[in-house]
Amino acid sequence: MRKSVLVTGGAGFLGSHLCEKLLDAGHDVLCVDNFFTGGKDNILHLLEHPRFELIRHDITFPLYLEVQEIYNLACPASPVHYQFDPVQTTKTNVHGTINMLGLAKRVKAKIFQASTSEVYGDPEVHPQPESYWGKVNPIGLRSCYDEGKRCAETLFFDYHRQHRLRIKVARIFNTYGPRMHPNDGRVVSNFIVQALRNEPITIYGEGSQTRSFCYVDDMIRAFLSLMEAEDSVTGPVNLGNPDEFTIRELADRVIDLTNSKSKLIHCPLPEDDPRQRKPDISLARSALSWEPRTTLHEGLMKTIAFFEKRLSTKTQTHHP
Ligand code: NAD
Ligand code: UDP
Repeated sequence: MRKSVLVTGGAGFLGSHLCEKLLDAGHDVLCVDNFFTGGKDNILHLLEHPRFELIRHDITFPLYLEVQEIYNLACPASPVHYQFDPVQTTKTNVHGTINMLGLAKRVKAKIFQASTSEVYGDPEVHPQPESYWGKVNPIGLRSCYDEGKRCAETLFFDYHRQHRLRIKVARIFNTYGPRMHPNDGRVVSNFIVQALRNEPITIYGEGSQTRSFCYVDDMIRAFLSLMEAEDSVTGPVNLGNPDEFTIRELADRVIDLTNSKSKLIHCPLPEDDPRQRKPDISLARSALSWEPRTTLHEGLMKTIAFFEKRLSTKTQTHHP
């Protein structure tokens, strides 16, 4: 059935891929973005599409639209960007989420929240199941994001209990792929850009911390499955790839796949950097019949191809 779907943060990395897939499925897509980290470049190819509409708007201000589904993705995702204006990050997660939940309540839309593995903080339980409440510093440099996203989850569940809203909460683990910004600061984009330029690869700390990397196409497939699932499937549900790598292993892979001359250098470990992270995706497997299909090797090859093209054709645009 053709639906009218709002994607906040639709000009960002994940949002742009989601808009594309929703258009492919025959829906009308309203993309809302304030272009803080996202850009028109990501959605340039969609602007002429008859079922696509772009609205420049900051979700911390109210928004009045008529839609049937809302994907709330607006929020800077990389530590460099969410720490650039931490008060705005909390506002986006709290005021912005309240605005989107209020909109969903008024128009009786189903609403999806892009939550994060950061709600688990620096976890003491490994791998992390949804039942784990996390270990989060409430006053650190990452708190604007971690606590902001935790509060957003609280708001989702209170709107669900209090106003019977149909909610879908996804806890997204590290995701990578084409359209990450070269200056984004996240590890996969940093390492690929550094390797392609034969510059030193910046390992924060010893590089023994772990992450599990999910390719963007697998993640977007999970978003759509969660939204389509019956109303009793509210989440929170972990979405990510359970294959776990140390940051050092990732650096070696990237150097290998790019035939780079880059050397590794060690930089200070950022405050509250989680030591290990790997999703337990049993719930996604059973409730959504979903699991990732793309190996790190395949995903890195596609992402490297994107950055090769981008670095050779573009001078970079300004980002904070
Ligand atoms: P991104 O920075 O590329 O996209 C975020 C988008 O939101 C950008 O286009 C930005 O301009 C927009 N935005 C930010 N604040 C806004 C505001 N107040 N009003 C309107 N638009 C605003 O990041 P991404 O990787 O695409 O992440 C999308 C969502 O997924 C975020 O909510 C993020 O927290 C979540 N997430 C992503 C990952 C990941 O690994 N990519 C992991 C966990 C959670
Ligand atoms: N990291 C690194 N070098 C970089 C960027 C990141 O070693 O140039 C490390 C970072 O300290 C963290 C991991 O890579 O341990 C993942 O960082 P990212 O910012 O991508 O995401 P996070 O999972 O920390 O939110």
